[in-house]
This record gives sequence, structure tokens and C-alpha cells, in this order.
Amino acid sequence: MGEKYVENLVVQGEKLRSLGHVGELFTGVNNSLLAAQREGGGGGVQQVWEQVLAQVEEKVGRVTTETWLKPVKPLALREETLHLEVPNALFRDWLLENLLPHIRKSLETILGFAAQIVIHVAAKQQGELFPSQRYEEREPTKAESARATNTKKNGLVSNYTFSSFIVGAGNQFANAAARAVAEHPGKHYNPLFIYGGVGLGKTHLINAIGHETIVKQGGKSVFYLSSETFTNELIAHLRRDRMDDFKTKFRQADVLIIDDIQFLSGRERTQEEFFHTFNTLHQAHKQIILTSDKFPNEIEGLEERLRNRFEWGLIADIQPPDLETRVAILQKKAQQKKIQLPHDVSLFIATHVTANVRELEGGLTKLGAYSTMTDTPITIDLAQQVLQNLMRGGKDRDQEVSVETVQKAVCKYFAIRVVDLTSKKRTQMVAFPRQVAMFLCRKLAGASYPMIGVRFGGKDHTTALYACASIEKRLKLDEELRAVLARIENIVFGQEN
Ligand code: ADP
Ligand code: MG
Repeated sequence: MGEKYVENLVVQGEKLRSLGHVGELFTGVNNSLLAAQREGGGGGVQQVWEQVLAQVEEKVGRVTTETWLKPVKPLALREETLHLEVPNALFRDWLLENLLPHIRKSLETILGFAAQIVIHVAAKQQGELFPSQRYEEREPTKAESARATNTKKNGLVSNYTFSSFIVGAGNQFANAAARAVAEHPGKHYNPLFIYGGVGLGKTHLINAIGHETIVKQGGKSVFYLSSETFTNELIAHLRRDRMDDFKTKFRQADVLIIDDIQFLSGRERTQEEFFHTFNTLHQAHKQIILTSDKFPNEIEGLEERLRNRFEWGLIADIQPPDLETRVAILQKKAQQKKIQLPHDVSLFIATHVTANVRELEGGLTKLGAYSTMTDTPITIDLAQQVLQNLMRGGKDRDQEVSVETVQKAVCKYFAIRVVDLTSKKRTQMVAFPRQVAMFLCRKLAGASYPMIGVRFGGKDHTTALYACASIEKRLKLDEELRAVLARIENIVFGQEN
């Protein structure tokens, strides 16, 4: 772009604002520059935007997406900048405050780089308070229709069931609690509060409770919604002066499931309303199920009385899955998606993609798509090629690694002390970790054999050479050892603790 929008330009009475985001200028203008971009923008931007919508919807729910993102028009994707058009200024501000981080994040996942976002206010719609109906008339996109059929009236996602949920050490407790609640809603653990990092299966698990309750306790009314949706519904009812309907609607639930409760943070009015809903349902022994990415105590901007109530029932956490669980999840997902995934490849992916299940699944989808498009079978080589970005994780693997870093990581993994690693002890407990450490010092820190000898307590360089050769030989045959090394590398690069 030859020319950037000028920050203080006043167009149609509205001052452009930069709102402190570098590179994000918000204009009220529909100028010729933009018109040119629009022509050149092509279908690519539409596709990218649809992917963004699908990803953001996963985070914020369908209602928010329909209300706030459907009316957004993707104009162009040019020079690493995505141009969006919104109907009015209120819309723009709402997007900025609530959805921009999600949009930016998914855009980065899709494009592989951090694109700038420029939001333009459509000239004609300025002054209108709420989104115009005409935007809702457009045909739903393929992705939207697919998701719509996947989501039932009660808000539950149809394929998030117990049978498709893999249980491992990290989620065993949460899973058991979820099953108990589905068996006897409102009886034992009320509320059930599940917390854990993103992409670890919270949404899946609480949907599973919803489905199971419907199957087992026919006739129960189950409501599943995100806290964003709850807020939006509240706003909509307030706007139409229909608060009684709002109260009746949520208070008739037998099972009320609210996802990502951390989004209620700082929203006083919503918290207040939720508080009353909570009390009514709880007193009537109706089941309440909540999730959050944090423990109740750690959610900032949450009223004490709500926090207190969240702690009344059972709080269960979900931890990242271990290697075996990651492999099992991959195989399950491959089966569901009808992707031919050989065992060695699933082990390879599970070893390298460790952050969360969503990434794991994203990697599998990408690999499956690539294999179909290029008509090549899925092999470790192909996985390595296709998943390069994912496997590198957020950190730069080219960073310099020191011998100490490697030693510490190895000790952490094997739960031994560095002094023992660099001692003359020859017990099995330290001998094997020492060989691994020597091998990784050479591989990751580029240390020479004599140097390794010195840094491991003044040993001869042949000891280092022997250790490296021995590990290298075992690696060719030993899958488990490959996995161990990958885990240690993750520790070295700070992607795993
Ligand atoms: P969260 O709500 O914790 O961010 P999600 O429930 O959205 O995570 O999970 C992200 C993806 O990973 C979903 O597609 C979900 O089906 C899948 N997933 C997570 N944990 C498991 C598991 N234990 N078994 C099968 N799939 C899982
Ligand atoms: Mg979730």
C-alpha cells in the first residue's frame, strides 16, 4: 500500500481513531484506494474470512458470530493487511473490544503470519445503532451451513459425546465428574466447575454431559451456551425491554451449561443476572455446569458472591494430555475423519505437537487434506513437511542452546540432579540419562566430543563419542526413545515443563 490512512483525517464528521493499536486504523471512509483494493481483493479474502469465522465461532459461540461477525464484510487482503467493513461505529467498537483478539489470532493461524487488521465503517450505515437486517438475508456459506447442522437447538455440538472423548491421566477426574453429573443431574456436584487451558477438551466434555443427560433422562431440558451468548441474550432482552422472558427462559432449564465463564469478567450487569439465575436453579436442584480457563479464584473482575458459589460444588481440572493419550486422540480423530493414519505417524505427530488437543487435531486435518490433495499416503516424511510450523511451536528452534540448558532439561525429565549427571557415578539411574544428555548436547548445543567430556565431569572424549553413537543406534529402532528425546527437546525449547 503506497499510502497509509492518516490518523487525524476527518471524514464525514468522524475523526479517525487509531485506538492505540499499531497498524489498525478505523475509518469512516469508502475511498478510492479502498475501492481499488476491493476489486483486487478477489475470492481469496472471502475464503480466509470464512475460515476465520469458523475458528472464532469455536471460541465465542454461534450467536455472537451470527450477531457480530456475519455482518462484517471482508474487503481485501493486501500487503499483509486484512480490510474489513462494518455497518456502523458501534459495531466497530464492539468488535474491537470483544472480538479483535480472536480474529487476529485465528488469522495468524490461517495465514501463518500476524496480519494487520483495518476496520472500515461503511459510509451508508453510519448512525445506525444496530446491525441492519439486510445483512442477515445473505445466503449462508458452506461452512456456516455445515456448522448449523452440527449444532442442535439446545446449543449442543452433536459430535462432542462421551464416546468420542478419550480419557487419560490429565482428564480422568473431570471425565468421572462429568459422567456422575450426567447420571444424576442436580444431585451430587452442583455446580460442576471444569477448568483448564485452551483446547484441552472442556467444551467437548460439557457437551457430552448435555447429550448423555438427554439420552438417559429423557424430557430434561438442557441449555448449553457460552457466557458470551448469555451476555448477548441479556443485551438483546434488555434492548427489547423483555427481561421477564430472559428470566423465564433460563430459569426453566433442568441442566444449564455455560462455557467459558471467564468472559463474564468485568460485566457487572450480566454477573448480576447470572447470580439470580444461578440461585433460582440451584435452589430448585437443577444442575449447573460451568467451564473456565482459570480456577474461580484467579478470574479477575468476578464478583465475590459468584466466585463463592462456583466453589460450592465440585471443581475439576483438565491437564494437558500425556503422550499415550495424544496418540489415542489422534487415532480416534483419524477414524472419525476417515484419514488413514499409520501408527508410527500418529506417534510422530503426538510426540511433536504437544501444546493442546486442538492443535493436534488441526495438524491431523491439515495432513489429511494435504495427503488427499496431492494423492500421497501419509508418512512421517509427509507429516514432517506439512506440520513444520506446528511442530516448531511458538518458539524459535534456531535459538542458541547451551550445554547447561540441555543438562537441566535432561535432569528434569529423569528427575535426577545435575551434580549426579556430571559425576563419575555409573549406576543405571544416571548412566542412561547421561548418554542421552551427551547426545543432545551434540545435537542441540553443537558441542564437540572433547567439550562434552569436559562438561560432564572431565571425562575422555571417547566416552562422549561412545554415548552419542549408542543413542543414535538405539534411536533407529526404539520408538519410545524417540518420544523421550522429543519430550526433552520440548523442555529445552520451553514448550513443555
Ligand atoms: P476447550 O474447550 O478446553 O478449549 P475443546 O473442548 O474445544 O477445548 O477441544 C478442542 C478440540 O479437541 C475439540 O475438537 C475436541 O473434540 C478435541 N478434544 C479435546 N480433548 C479431547 C479428548 N480427550 N478426546 C477427544 N477429543 C478431544
Ligand atoms: Mg471451549
